[in-house]
Amino acid sequence: MLELRNIKKNYPIGGGVVEALKGISLQFRRSEFVSILGPSGCGKTTLLNIIGGLDQYTEGDLIINGRSTKGFKDRDWDSYRNHSVGFVFQSYNLIPHQTVLQNVELALTLSGVSRAERKARAVRALEEVGLGNQLNKRPSEMSGGQMQRVAIARALVNNPDIILADEPTGALDTETSVQVMELLKKISSDRLIVMVTHNPELAQRYSSRIIRVLDGRITGDSAPLSEEELNAERAADQAANEKAVREKKPSMSFPTAFMLSLKNLCTKKGRTALTAFAGSIGIIGIALIFSVSQGMTSYIELTQKNTLSSYPLSIQAASVDLTSLMQTFMDLSSDTAEHPLDQVYERPALQEMVSAMNNLETTENDLVSFKAYLDRQMAEEQSALAGAISGIQYAYDLDLQIYTKNVDGVIQKIGRRRPDAGAAGQRHGRPASHGGFRRGGLHGDGRRNQRRLAGAAAGPERRGRQRPDYQPV
Ligand code: ADP
Ligand code: MG
Repeated sequence: MLELRNIKKNYPIGGGVVEALKGISLQFRRSEFVSILGPSGCGKTTLLNIIGGLDQYTEGDLIINGRSTKGFKDRDWDSYRNHSVGFVFQSYNLIPHQTVLQNVELALTLSGVSRAERKARAVRALEEVGLGNQLNKRPSEMSGGQMQRVAIARALVNNPDIILADEPTGALDTETSVQVMELLKKISSDRLIVMVTHNPELAQRYSSRIIRVLDGRITGDSAPLSEEELNAERAADQAANEKAVREKKPSMSFPTAFMLSLKNLCTKKGRTALTAFAGSIGIIGIALIFSVSQGMTSYIELTQKNTLSSYPLSIQAASVDLTSLMQTFMDLSSDTAEHPLDQVYERPALQEMVSAMNNLETTENDLVSFKAYLDRQMAEEQSALAGAISGIQYAYDLDLQIYTKNVDGVIQKIGRRRPDAGAAGQRHGRPASHGGFRRGGLHGDGRRNQRRLAGAAAGPERRGRQRPDYQPV
């Protein structure tokens, strides 16, 4: 027996609440055909949804077969909806791309029934509603009355105790409405049917009990349960509960789920193709961005390498360590010493600077040994140094007193070849500019014995191409 005890339902809307049901108490017989009548918006659909477990009540209690639903878990509600209730809607709610048989079978796929039995039960349910010869039609090829009969077959296929119908004839003409009502009346012989309708005539003619609802309250009940009936129903519930076996948990097997998805993909080819296309655009876009960023990174690395390798390293016979000078200048610019107030202090800045310059350290490099070392290394093809160096230039700081006449007839002094006029440009044989001889030396700094040695670190692409080239002096 199904029993509602003072059921209330509030819908929170914006700041306030809509009281859809304001306290409904009802008992239903195990098998009867109940019609619920009432104007639009009075709460009929809300009531039906609460009975069917599609919606939760705010207050009160719903007793199903003697069991309160207050402590129901999701899994209990699933089992109730799946095994005890069948729904019929005004708009049929059939799946358009599946056949009539598949639509009815679908209601069983969640019940863990085998494939063969599923089909047999679906065929039986469709035969019961008079559609045994239309199994392979699609819903779009049927009339409204036929579609509603398919929906009733779908509700029946699980053999539920209760069938809930929300205005099942709302979209049908009088003739087909009568057929549907006849069918509902037939199946109400051994189960409870609760039907919401707008049509009092049909309700009067076919149902065994009429409940009138107004504004969330019951205003009339044509056949409430008598005391004896109530006691009998309660006793039956108790007896049934005692030998109740737990229903199987609703589940869909993996192959069934897979086949359903595959079928869905195949029936909507256009949509599937579009989705695949859109998905691939996204993937290709990501790959494109990734490859461009990779390319940029390696290009920057290559540029860095090439730029750095074109700078020559030059080693001179004597070098000056400027670090101590810089240190003195930096110390001069910042004065962090604390002094008492109202006194004048001396700051020997100039003296410190001069003494720093005086104390500059000069380092003498042993270029003779270094040249011998380099010669040894460069003669050896396997040496790491030879691979890293693309060329070596030696310059000797001699001021030659040789004069010549140029093409304009002007007498000019022949200079040394510039040792540092672009190591990259000059190191391969011919000098890059002006025949390579310049007047005067770049090292006119008075150090007669200064020699300059210039080499360049180079990338592996220049490896082994170059022998040390000794400049004429
Ligand atoms: P009926 O089916 O009798 O036409 P309903 O049960 O659909 O009426 O609705 C009853 C009342 O509850 C109406 O005032 C409606 O606006 C309100 N209502 C129904 N469902 C909701 C909802 N989901 N959220 C807010 N208000 C709702
Ligand atoms: Mg409604």
